[in-house]
Parts: sequence; structure tokens; C-alpha cells
Amino acid sequence: MKERNVGGMRCSEVLAVLSEYVDGELEDSAVGKVETHLLGCPNCERFGRNFGSMVVSLRKESEDSPEAALDVMARLLEQLRKAKVEV
Ligand SMILES: [Zn+2]
Repeated sequence: MKERNVGGMRCSEVLAVLSEYVDGELEDSAVGKVETHLLGCPNCERFGRNFGSMVVSLRKESEDSPEAALDVMARLLEQLRKAKVEV
């Protein structure tokens, strides 16, 4: 696979911090880089839209049920791993 450097981060770096990004634990400067990468990288763009909607549902579900949120997170990470393999 060919990694791209978009927004100051490579694909593998984005994937490495994605769980922190979803958890809201990432510092603001890194959040901006991740979002710039997801918007600007053709490799990551194909699941970027799906990713965004999953983050939204994760946020909603985590308010009602932390267990449901974990389930969403697991599906998200599985999808990202698949996307990485296909690149
Ligand atoms: Zn990428």
C-alpha cells in the first residue's frame, strides 16, 4: 500500500490515533490534522463519510449506553482495518 501524507499526517498515523480522536482525547491541534487528512486523502476518503456518521452515532449512543458505544467503536475499527488492507 502507498501511504499518503495529507494535513501533516500519514494514513498509518491517522489510524493509530483514531480511537483517541473518537474518544475526544486527542489534543486540538491533532484533531485538526486528523480531520484535514480524512477530508483530503483519497485512501481515507472512501470511508471518511461512513466514519463521520459512525462518530455521530457513537456520540449519541454513548450518552444513553456506554456498551452500545463500545459496539459502534468496535465496528468502526474493524472497518478501518479493512480499509487499510485494501489500500
Ligand atoms: Zn489517508
